[in-house]
Amino acid sequence: MVSFTPGPSELYFTVPDHLRRAVRDRVPSLTHRSKAFERIFRETTDGLRTLLGLPSGYHIAFVGSATEVWERSLQSLVDRTSFHLVNGAFAKKYFETSKQLKKDATAETAADGDGFGEIRIPSGQELIAITQNETSTGVALPASVFAAVRKQSPDALIIVDAVSGLPYSELDYDGIDSVFFSVQKGFGLPAGLGVWMYNERCVEKAQRLQKDGIALATYHSLPSLHSFALKNQTPATPNVLSIYLLGKVVGDFLRRGITTIRKETEYKAAVLYQALEKTADTKPFVQKEEFRSKTVITVSCPARLKELVTHLESRGLSPGDGYGSAKTTQLRFANFPAHSRETYDLLADSLDSFPG
Ligand SMILES: *Cc1c(COP(=O)(O)O)cnc(C)c1O
Repeated sequence: MVSFTPGPSELYFTVPDHLRRAVRDRVPSLTHRSKAFERIFRETTDGLRTLLGLPSGYHIAFVGSATEVWERSLQSLVDRTSFHLVNGAFAKKYFETSKQLKKDATAETAADGDGFGEIRIPSGQELIAITQNETSTGVALPASVFAAVRKQSPDALIIVDAVSGLPYSELDYDGIDSVFFSVQKGFGLPAGLGVWMYNERCVEKAQRLQKDGIALATYHSLPSLHSFALKNQTPATPNVLSIYLLGKVVGDFLRRGITTIRKETEYKAAVLYQALEKTADTKPFVQKEEFRSKTVITVSCPARLKELVTHLESRGLSPGDGYGSAKTTQLRFANFPAHSRETYDLLADSLDSFPG
């Protein structure tokens, strides 16, 4: 059975071999203050830089999850104000985290399954949070949204939640200041690691807040993460195994080639969207093509959802549930490097044979 749940996703096919080698080489019990760990840290971060095309001014730190980055970014980069583009449940949780931390948080909220038209950002925002690929709704935001935000608020730091978009998503890293993801979605790895990428503007902002006497969290403040990252280390004992596996899978992605991965993702998305047009009683949940995610495809099938699930499962295909209350009306299909073209061709054939 192939699972299309966005997270945790199917493992990338090389992960079992990497895990066996890791155990053989005693990676899980390596001390994080050793040269061997520093080499692993270095291999993983160098690989990510190349894979994603990160500019040289960016740094990479490891934390526990993407949810942790929501909290740490607000603690380290915001004294008072944050602004959030809310296009679904994950963006909303980031926004709510800011309110829970007693920041002056405001938001622009899109209708469910829609992106944004004209965005009006109140002046004086310190941090603007954008969820590039909303895993709950399958809405992905095009580059024009990021450019418009930067133009309107050049002084604000822009942070992008790209958890379910990467490694596919091509971001203009110079037009934003920070990006983060966790590894159990597009990278096809076991959960338990968050990757936080940030530029010098973020470091300077956090250091300024610290100088002003503002408490930025303790061991995982950005200045603390950053000072250790400069030495290829982490403040606390990290998930060494996960950092190792990420480096290995990034190496595999590099050998396959990011251009190939992107082309395959687009091919598979086109195959599924085309099949949906012909499938009885189903349609893409996201109406406007410009906002349709290529990596998390949401499907509306309110009248015959159970029938469709049974039909697909009989062919070895297990769709992801709709998110939250959409569980009874929608399905989600992750389209990650772990999902092969053959799997997507089979998915399209299976939709074709769904009786009308
Ligand atoms: C899954 C997800 C998260 C949360 O990731 P964790 O690793 O569980 O913290 C955050 N944002 C988006 C867009 C996600 O899809």
